[in-house]
Amino acid sequence: MAEQKLPPVTAKRLPLYYRYLEKLHAVGKGRVSSAELSEALQIDSATIRRDFSYLGELGKKGYGYNVQYLLQFLREFLKQDEVANVVLIGVGNLGTALLRYNFYRSHNTKIVAGFDIDPNKIGTYVDGIPIYPLNRLKEVALLHDVDVAILTVPVNAAKTVFDEVVSAGIHGILNFTPVRLTVPPHVRVHHIDLTTELQTLIYFLKNFPPEDESSEQEPLENDANRR
Ligand code: ATP
Repeated sequence: MAEQKLPPVTAKRLPLYYRYLEKLHAVGKGRVSSAELSEALQIDSATIRRDFSYLGELGKKGYGYNVQYLLQFLREFLKQDEVANVVLIGVGNLGTALLRYNFYRSHNTKIVAGFDIDPNKIGTYVDGIPIYPLNRLKEVALLHDVDVAILTVPVNAAKTVFDEVVSAGIHGILNFTPVRLTVPPHVRVHHIDLTTELQTLIYFLKNFPPEDESSEQEPLENDANRR
């Protein structure tokens, strides 16, 4: 019901809320206002109230939100108890860093395997995660019911690896390569091009320097949408 109507920008922010509420709950905080959430997450409070209004009647005016109730609600909504299994392809510098990182802030994702074509890497482990040859992708994906593949291969390998991922039946791709490839409609790709992001930031800093602290801040909504 509500889930179907949820705008994508709201859906993207729910994990942020969830993570912050978990922190509040851990320190025993029972209630939180949209203003407090706004301050902590840098999302303006009108946006927060609107986001929560899509989820139903969760808060009372002047009372704020009940942390535990909201947390339970979001957990159910985001199905945080279900673990999504992830694989990573291309165990180079970035790939190794991501395997080590293993998205520890999120309790509902787990990198179950890495893949590479380098014989020196195949058969090794990175922080306990086994590295397999790429030709075992389909088998491992089936075995672990893998939902997402993270791609950290070089540009020239991106096309082949994309195809392998799709034919292994994996429906989500987090693409760290700068390559933009078309995939079938049942596959969703999110692109993260760190180099371009960094260059764009530097370009903006040079050409549109941020105003000093005393002046007006940009509206925060853009910040939230950016994530
Ligand atoms: P390194 O210094 O370990 O080579 P890197 O990040 O600079 O790391 P890249 O050339 O970007 O290296 O390659 C990233 C990883 O992708 C390497 O481990 C490489 O062996 C692997 N790789 C290359 N082609 C493929 C492929 N077709 N399938 C899977 N992995 C691949």
